Amino acid sequence: MDHILHLRCLLCGKEHRPEDVAYVCPDHGVEGVLDVVYDYDLIRRRVTPESVRDGAGMWRFRGLLPVETETPVPPLLVGDTPIVDAPRLAAAVGVARVWVKDEGRQPTASLKDRASAMAVAKAAERGVETITTASTGNAAAALAGMCAASAVRAVIFVPASAPPAKLAQLHAFGAAVVLVEGSYDQAVLLSMAAAERRGWYNRNTGFNPYMTEGKKTVVYEICEALGWQAPDVITVGVGDGCIIGGLHKGLRDLFAMGWIDRMPRLVGVQAEGSAFLADAWRFGEDVVTKPAIATHTVADSIAAGLPRDRVKAMAAVRDTGGGFVTVSDDEILAAIPAVARGCGVFGEPAAAASWAGLVAAVQSGVVGRGDRVVIMNTGSGLKDVAAASRGAEAAGTTAVRVRPDGRDLDEALDRLEMGAR
Ligand SMILES: *Cc1c(COP(=O)(O)O)cnc(C)c1O
Ligand SMILES: [Zn+2]
Repeated sequence: MDHILHLRCLLCGKEHRPEDVAYVCPDHGVEGVLDVVYDYDLIRRRVTPESVRDGAGMWRFRGLLPVETETPVPPLLVGDTPIVDAPRLAAAVGVARVWVKDEGRQPTASLKDRASAMAVAKAAERGVETITTASTGNAAAALAGMCAASAVRAVIFVPASAPPAKLAQLHAFGAAVVLVEGSYDQAVLLSMAAAERRGWYNRNTGFNPYMTEGKKTVVYEICEALGWQAPDVITVGVGDGCIIGGLHKGLRDLFAMGWIDRMPRLVGVQAEGSAFLADAWRFGEDVVTKPAIATHTVADSIAAGLPRDRVKAMAAVRDTGGGFVTVSDDEILAAIPAVARGCGVFGEPAAAASWAGLVAAVQSGVVGRGDRVVIMNTGSGLKDVAAASRGAEAAGTTAVRVRPDGRDLDEALDRLEMGAR
């Protein structure tokens, strides 16, 4: 892996060789999250905007990823998701452009597939045959799916309260599932302990440095789709902070390579009931020492009492001149039909939060009229049908009931035309 210079500890700056350290800085334990530092001069000679057009999905960018040329990857198409132009959403919120990057179109229907595909590749390099993670549901489904594709064992720790669709995915993919009668944060601790005791490969976000590297590929695709132009702003729902950290990393890669000439502002969107990072941002708190908070939100994928990638998340917002905003559960639920009706993309609560957050960011002046904005639809609306139904009901639905013989059809259609409920 001659294109990687070292893994750098975000706390102490110490540099480690990738062959010496699997996950975190040995001097700092779980707090010592590592960043993969690349030799861009070398990569620039091997990889170009033209060369990455060959192939399909995230592995088109292999030269910018922490894997060997011959490392096997899961045989599923991960990445190359659509980016949807949404002029009606742009007009509704009052910005120049809105695009929706639709990660609901991934194999297991969330952006987490990018990181889980990377986990399976890294485990293969190490010859480990069992991979574990804790998850609120999507990382779990993604790991279960990628492992099924590659005939690797997945052991998944999820809160027993995870939405049924996500649990169904785990069971369908044949993962071994540990239902934790507690929070996501508690599931993380158990999964970490199990990995340590059993020698399993540990995919946990904010601990495994390569998850950021998988997730960053989404922003390569965004900038490529815009003709290697960065948008002005990207908004994304934030729980652990790995996605927003991945966006930042991918943008820094592209900037260093000279493929984009400026950095977008990254706007992190948190639920009011899980606002660790937004609070730290607002009050200038140190995220390394700030204690965990209790969480309560309808957007399960962004419920994180102690965001595992908080250091990377804060850097992403600070270094790009972006910001954090918070949105209520009602705003999140309303965002689901707003985006679905506004451009045809159906997201789960944590995904639709990126739209609610854009609305809030425009109101507070963080985002302005002239901005060209990408909102991240991080997961499919089918992941949480109950939440989607609540959001749609609150926004008003148009439906009438008819008898099968059609006796009342005309009368019903008249009511339908009048927008009857
Ligand atoms: C995981 C996830 C997020 C948040 O990502 P973090 O890395 O935890 O900040 C947002 N939306 C969806 C759908 C997710 O699955
Ligand atoms: Zn360190």
